[in-house]
Amino acid sequence: MSALVRGPSGDRYAVYALQYGRRAGVRGEHFLGWDATAAEPHPTAYYAWLALSADRTILVDSGIDPDADLPLSGWEFRTSVPALLSSVGIDGVDTLVLTHLHYDHAGGVRSFPDARVVVTAAELEYWTGPAAARITREAWLVDKADLDDVAARAELVEGDREIAPGLSVHPVGGHTAGMQIVRVNTDAGPVVLASDSSHFYENLDTDRPGTILHTMAGVYTAFDRARWLADGGVIVPGHDPEVRNRFPSVAEHIVRIA
Ligand SMILES: [Zn+2]
Repeated sequence: MSALVRGPSGDRYAVYALQYGRRAGVRGEHFLGWDATAAEPHPTAYYAWLALSADRTILVDSGIDPDADLPLSGWEFRTSVPALLSSVGIDGVDTLVLTHLHYDHAGGVRSFPDARVVVTAAELEYWTGPAAARITREAWLVDKADLDDVAARAELVEGDREIAPGLSVHPVGGHTAGMQIVRVNTDAGPVVLASDSSHFYENLDTDRPGTILHTMAGVYTAFDRARWLADGGVIVPGHDPEVRNRFPSVAEHIVRIA
């Protein structure tokens, strides 16, 4: 039995954010355009998201591979998505939606051997294609083993698509070539899991892109698309520690979004 409540029907979900890490940082790393506040502390949180209907267990992003050797410092804590799931009695997921293929979203896909894995064709094509191989500043953002796993198993989607009743994916680009965001139907209205199309609430609130991006125009398209899809409902950013304060805690490192 899971400690987490499920949505009331096959097309309405309970949505959770699972925080598997937190790291020190400064504003200049997170907001494009160096300014007077660039050196101020600005921690970053690492999440995966879980949507539970009466009969489905859908994970959005798989976090960092627990065994990954990363060139990153300042970790305040780091656990893994599989460990968080089993802490609440969830030992498998039926679908894994990947918003994009950066190491902190598509790591350890092999931990979910039975899951249907959904990613955009554009995202896989970009990371396995000739451009990504030449862009050194992007090389550290993806893990070759993860890419191989995804290439071998993933269902590649194009365009807006209902992945399961009440849960759809929407390509937006911007942050990465094939970035997609997820809209989930809940009792409280739509929840949009923006992932890294908006790393922090502040990106959306001030219309300011983050520093890691594929195209600037795409970032703005993604902001607009998230707002449109949410239709006044909740938008959940990809890396904001504030998510832990805005929603009620239901287990260690887990909050309920809706
Ligand atoms: Zn990320």
